[in-house]
Amino acid sequence: MVHWSPFVVSFKKRYPWVQLAGHAGNFKAGDYGKILKKYCECEHQCLESLMKDSLLRPYVPGYYGVVDKDGDSYNQMDDLLSEFDSPSIMDCKMGVRTYLEEELTKAREKPKLRKDMYEKMIAVDPNAPTQEEHEQKAVLKPRYMQWRETLSSTATLGFRIEGIRKADGSCSTSFKKTRLKEEVMEALKDFVDSNRNILRNYLTRLKELRAALEGSEFFNTHEVVGSSLLFVHDKSELAKVWMIDFGKTVLLPDHGTLNHRVPWVEGNREDGYLWGMDNLINIISQMIEE
Ligand code: ATP
Ligand code: MG
Ligand code: MG
Repeated sequence: MVHWSPFVVSFKKRYPWVQLAGHAGNFKAGDYGKILKKYCECEHQCLESLMKDSLLRPYVPGYYGVVDKDGDSYNQMDDLLSEFDSPSIMDCKMGVRTYLEEELTKAREKPKLRKDMYEKMIAVDPNAPTQEEHEQKAVLKPRYMQWRETLSSTATLGFRIEGIRKADGSCSTSFKKTRLKEEVMEALKDFVDSNRNILRNYLTRLKELRAALEGSEFFNTHEVVGSSLLFVHDKSELAKVWMIDFGKTVLLPDHGTLNHRVPWVEGNREDGYLWGMDNLINIISQMIEE
C-alpha cells in the first residue's frame, strides 16, 4: 500500500509527501526540509555511524538526531524528495533475504505450526505446501519466511521492488510476485517512462554508490537486511539514489566482516546486498543498450 501522507510538505514547492512502504503513521513532517521517522534504536545507531562514514555519507539522508513530538520519539532526517519537482519515486529492497538470521533462530526456538501462514501460502500458490503441510493445514514460521522470499526477485536477483509512485500520480506496490528479470525490466521501463537519459543518470549514481559501498568501513562491518535504495527523479532528468531504512542493519560481533556477494548459508550472515546491486546495475545497463 502507498500511504498518502497526512502531511503536505510546505517549503519551497508544495507536494504531498509520499511513503512507499512501512506502516502509515510512522512518519511526520519535521523541521524545514526534514522528516521524522518513528524512533528505532538500531536505526539511530546506524544513522549516527553513517554520518561519520565519509564514503557513504553522500548516499544516506542527513541525520539530525532524536526529536520528541506528541509523546513519541522520532529520528529526524533529510526529506530526500525536497530537491525535486513533482518526483517519481521507487523503493527497492536490497539483499537475498529480508529477515535477520536472529529472527530465523528465534522462529525456530519454539516451533509452532501456523495455520495463518498456511492460509497465506495457499492463497498465493495452492501447490506451495508439501503433502505433510497440507495434511496439517499449517506450516512452521521459518519455512514460511524462506518461502516468501522466493516469490519476488529477492531470492533470485538479490533485490525486489517494493513500490513505485510516478509523477502523474499512478502508483503500485503490487510487485510481491515480480520475480523474473524481464518483469523487473518492464517495471523499471514504466517507472522512467522509457527515458534513457534518466536510466543513464541512475546507472552513474548506482556505480558510484557501489564503489563507495565496497570501500566503506560501515558497510563491511554490518549485516544489512531490509534496507532499501530509494530512487528519485523528475522531469528535469535529475535522478538520484539513496540508501534508507536501517531498522535491521546490525554490527557484526567480534570485528566480523561480510563480503555481501557470496551466497548466504545460514550462519555466515551474508546478505547478498552487493550481489543484488550488481544484478540491478547489469539490468539497467542492458536496458540502456537495447
Ligand atoms: P519497512 O520496514 O516496512 O520497509 P519502514 O517503516 O522501516 O518500512 P522506510 O522503509 O524507512 O519505513 O520508509 C518507508 C517509505 O518512506 C520509503 O519507501 C519512502 O517512500 C519513504 N521515505 C523513507 N525515508 C525517506 C526520506 N529520508 N526521504 C523521503 N522519503 C523517505
Ligand atoms: Mg523500508
Ligand atoms: Mg524498515
